[in-house]
Amino acid sequence: MPVDFNNSIIHAAAILADADTLIRDGAIWLQDGKIAAIGNWEDLRRRHPELPACSTGHSLITPGLINIHTHLELGYLRGKIPGPAQFPQWVCNLFALSPPPERLSQTITDSVQRGTEECLQYGVTAVGDITRYPYLTRKALGRSGLRGISFGEITAMGKARHHLQERMTLAQTPAEDADARFGIGLSPHAPYSVEGPALQSIVRHAAAARQPLAMHLAELREETDFLRNFSGPLGHSWTLRRIIDVWDNHIPTFAGGPIRWADHWGLFNHTMPLVLAHVNYASDDDIRLLAGRSHISVAMCPRTRHYFGHDKAGPHPCLAMLAAGVRVCIATDSAASSPDLNLLAEAAAAHGELPSLPFSTLFRMMTQWPAAAMGLHAGCLAPGRWADLAVFPMLQIHHTAEDATADLIERHPPARAVMMGSQVVSGRLDG
Ligand SMILES: [Zn+2]
Repeated sequence: MPVDFNNSIIHAAAILADADTLIRDGAIWLQDGKIAAIGNWEDLRRRHPELPACSTGHSLITPGLINIHTHLELGYLRGKIPGPAQFPQWVCNLFALSPPPERLSQTITDSVQRGTEECLQYGVTAVGDITRYPYLTRKALGRSGLRGISFGEITAMGKARHHLQERMTLAQTPAEDADARFGIGLSPHAPYSVEGPALQSIVRHAAAARQPLAMHLAELREETDFLRNFSGPLGHSWTLRRIIDVWDNHIPTFAGGPIRWADHWGLFNHTMPLVLAHVNYASDDDIRLLAGRSHISVAMCPRTRHYFGHDKAGPHPCLAMLAAGVRVCIATDSAASSPDLNLLAEAAAAHGELPSLPFSTLFRMMTQWPAAAMGLHAGCLAPGRWADLAVFPMLQIHHTAEDATADLIERHPPARAVMMGSQVVSGRLDG
């Protein structure tokens, strides 16, 4: 049974309430799963001497981290496809390593369960999880205590287009968590696996159901050639096109790259949350299309970029996106391309690639911004917000929020404990 600290005060040597606010000798009053008050320990104690209190000692409490783009069901592939990898071959390997039908259910369920435990181990309390097997993964997510959105993944192209309706219905399999901690979303997979008219139908379907969307977009430079005339490594010559025989002559072409293609088929008109995974390749014109639309977020996955060698083509266009007002978040993607689900380690990798990005911004990219992107009352520690928080070991006293975020990201340690609502769901508060 999780230990419950409802209507208690917890203390820490320091609390990073958000990317700009460090409270030394801080305390949080937890009530009914939310934060009732946050501030200085002595002040809060003096005002509420009647409340039980627990100290986390020499630790730093932060908001629970939020991983906006992952595929927990692919956990069984960890370390199975050594990098650096070429994307088209990597997808073929992914297919070749799929579990046989008799082991599928157990493999997927185990992967999600282990993935959720690993999230908590690294202080992650909410995820945007992509799934091809929602009838399996949503049960495991519901048992995990995490929050977030489960995006049902859909492919629809060529001869498979008549499956679109049934695939959308499957992707909307209801969540099974009793307290509805997971919302349901749809995920049209990518420009090379979902044709334009199908994307348009999915957007309309999600709009009618008021559901969020997530899509892999502009992850690969080769998407442009594919959309133009089905040339390049994602086109006719791709081994996968022979394995999955869906090709026909009615798939529309598009000149102008994946971001304009997505705009053409109405993706950006979706007014519910929309997460664009990767966006490794974007021109200034592309970025202008995304700017000023507060429902759109980009999920940058630094270690997956490195695994596929996209960092060799130059840094992620993150800085231009942020300057244009596009919300960028940090995510891990799956264990098939990233070593683990340590979101702070992804932020450290992002810092290596983009050293001018302040640590406080990197911290915002895995707390406040993904919370806003997914509509979660989390991402910062303030009265009225959910009491989802992570407790990290602290080696030194920090004087500013920037110092605390820098130290946390550079060390990227596992969390010592995690609370969801007022319950300890991983580790121990008192160390
Ligand atoms: Zn992905």
